[in-house]
Amino acid sequence: MANEDKATRFQRLRRRATVAAVGSCGLVLGLAWMAGPPGWASVSASAGSLAQLGSLTVGALGLLLLCAVATFPATFFRDAVLTRRYGLLRERPLAWIVDWSRHAGVNVVAGTVAVAACAVLRWLMEDAWWAIGGMAVAAAPFAAGRLLRVESRGTPLAREALCERLTRLLGKAGFPGLGLFQVHVGERTRVASAAIVNAGRARYVAISDTLLADHTDEEVEVVVAHELAHVAHHDVVIAQAALAVHVAASLLGAEVAVRWAGPIHGVMAAARLPLALLTTGALFLLLRPLSLALSRLQERRADRYALTLTGNGPALTSVLRRLAANNLVEPAPSGLTVWWFHSHPAAAERMSGCGPVDSTDGGGAAR
Ligand SMILES: [Zn+2]
Repeated sequence: MANEDKATRFQRLRRRATVAAVGSCGLVLGLAWMAGPPGWASVSASAGSLAQLGSLTVGALGLLLLCAVATFPATFFRDAVLTRRYGLLRERPLAWIVDWSRHAGVNVVAGTVAVAACAVLRWLMEDAWWAIGGMAVAAAPFAAGRLLRVESRGTPLAREALCERLTRLLGKAGFPGLGLFQVHVGERTRVASAAIVNAGRARYVAISDTLLADHTDEEVEVVVAHELAHVAHHDVVIAQAALAVHVAASLLGAEVAVRWAGPIHGVMAAARLPLALLTTGALFLLLRPLSLALSRLQERRADRYALTLTGNGPALTSVLRRLAANNLVEPAPSGLTVWWFHSHPAAAERMSGCGPVDSTDGGGAAR
C-alpha cells in the first residue's frame, strides 16, 4: 500500500466508510431485534389491525431515524471529509450537513410510508405482496420524477461550435430537437459529468460546467453520445425492471424470515420489523452484484455505441483518461472490488475498446 496511487487510496477509504455505514445500520437493526419493542409500541393482535398498523408505522419511523443517525459519522467522513480532503468536494461541511439532513429526512419519511404500504399489502394479499411491493418500490422514484417536473436545468449551452456539433449528433442518433443545457455544479464539486434528463415533458441534454471547463468539443461529444446510448437502449427502464426483481426477491426473503419467527395475525407486529428490515437489507446487498453486472453490460454497450456514432476512438480514450484522473477513478481495481462495488467496467478495459492504450495510464469515468 506504500506505493498506492491517490485514486486507489481514495476509493479504498470510500469503500471502508461505505462498509462502516452499512454495518452501523445493521447493528442498529440487530440490537432492536434482540431488545424487542418498547412497551408503548407493543400492540397485541386483539387491539385491531389499525392499531397494529399505527404501531408498525411509528416503529418504522423510529428505526429508520436511528439508522440515519447511526450511518451519519461514516457517511459524513466518506462524502464530506474524504471528498474534500482529496479535492473533489468544494462545498463547506456545514452546507453538506444541511443537504444531508434534507435528504435523510425525505428518505426516512419515504421509507416509513413504504413500510406502512408493504404492511397493508401484506395484510390484503399475504402470498403476493412482495412482488407488488418490489414493482412499486422500483417505480416510485420514476413516477416522482415525472410528477415533480425537473425545472433546475441550468442555462442554455453557450459554446456555439459545440452546440452545432451536438445538434448534428442528436440528429444522427435519432433525437433531434433535444435542448442543450449547462448545469452549474462547479461551486460544489470538481466531478465532471453529463446526462440525458428524461422526466415527463422535461427532455434535454445536461452537461456539467466542470466537464465543459476542461474538455474539448470532441471529448464532450463522445460523452454525450455515450449518454444517448442509454436512452436509445432503454437502459433506465431495463435497470428499473431489474431493480423491481431485486427488491421483490429481498422482500420475499423478509416474508420467509418473519414467518419463521412465528404465526402472524392481521398486520405484522412492530416487534418483527427489525428482522424484516435486516433480512431485506442483507438480501438486497447479497444480490447487488447482479444489478452491478447488468449496469456494466449497459456501460460497455454505451461505449461501443458512442464509438460507432462518433467514429472518434481517440476522443473517447482521451476523455476516459482525463475524467478518470479528475474524478479519482481507481485505475486497476481487483475483480472482487469490481464485482461488489463497480457499476462501470474497469477503466483500462473501457479504454482498450477504443484503440491503442498506454498501459501506464489511469482509467475512465464517463457515466
Ligand atoms: Zn453510462
